[in-house]
Amino acid sequence: MKLISIVVPCYNEEEVLSMFFDEIRKVMGQMKETYPELNFELLFIDDGSKDKTLALLRSMSQEDERVRYISFSRNFGKEAGMYAGLENSRGDYVVVMDADLQHPPAFLPKMYEFVKDGEYDCATTRRVSREGESKVRSAFARLFYKIMNKISQTEIVDGAQDFRFMTRQMVNAILEMHEYNRFSKGIFSWVGFRTRYIEYENVERPAGSSSWSFWGLFRYSLEGIFAFSTAPLAVAVVLGVFICFIALVLLVVLVVKSVLVTDADLRFLAALCILCLLSGLQLFCTGILGQYLSKTYLESKHRPIYLTRETEETYRSCQEDKQ
Ligand code: UDP
Ligand code: MG
Repeated sequence: MKLISIVVPCYNEEEVLSMFFDEIRKVMGQMKETYPELNFELLFIDDGSKDKTLALLRSMSQEDERVRYISFSRNFGKEAGMYAGLENSRGDYVVVMDADLQHPPAFLPKMYEFVKDGEYDCATTRRVSREGESKVRSAFARLFYKIMNKISQTEIVDGAQDFRFMTRQMVNAILEMHEYNRFSKGIFSWVGFRTRYIEYENVERPAGSSSWSFWGLFRYSLEGIFAFSTAPLAVAVVLGVFICFIALVLLVVLVVKSVLVTDADLRFLAALCILCLLSGLQLFCTGILGQYLSKTYLESKHRPIYLTRETEETYRSCQEDKQ
């Protein structure tokens, strides 16, 4: 028997939760028919909702024994919800999905197909359209992915989502990332493993509203940049070198002028040259400090140094399982 844990972070979702519950139960029923070896658990994370979400979860767990829930003491954000869900899930496979039906449960059988034979460790969806989203928001999102992929070594696929069907092995790898400031899109990509993207058109919420404001998203994208890139800390070095270069050019002009032009007034030029040289050096030194800071910053995350996907032992036991 194989257990699939479905982790669902919820924040003020009273309007869609019942719809989601009906929908997911339908899909679980269908999957159970096709694959009798499957069992399910639904793990809801109530992220400090202020509406009737918790009351709904209580009655759902009484109605269906596959339902478990964890209710936070306050709103900690979706990242914390996902982490709690992964940490408390018991399944051989773990699904992370939103409660608002923007991650259609109908995709689950297809995703399972990809991971069940061990060919992929993760199946996920990728939005190819952003219909229903404002133009400004889409433009900023595109810009974010462009910048991010330029300055960070961790590739973040445009349109990739937190709708994931993962093996236990990948989930354990994600749980080894203990950092407090979590940016899941980066973490999913950082841990590696074989990921299969399924493309689909954006789906709008049937009810309720997104809890992301424009500024909320903007702050979240900065979080992503600072969590997965230390490039901003190198800005001072580059700027410092540039200003020192200007000082050098000024020095050359100064020397040439003093040789060629008799009684030229060089006081202003000399002052400018010294100013540039000193401020350039200062910026450069700040940049060096930044480099040490960036190393300390990365060390403080205690990320694993490597993650294994397969050894001859795991391969052998996998083959034995199949027989
Ligand atoms: N969510 C959460 N905590 C929060 C904000 C959102 O658990 O502080 C959940 C929310 O209930 C939903 C998912 O995260 O299941 C995605 O949120 P939302 O639909 O607001 O974001 P969007 O789809 O607009 O990115
Ligand atoms: Mg949503």
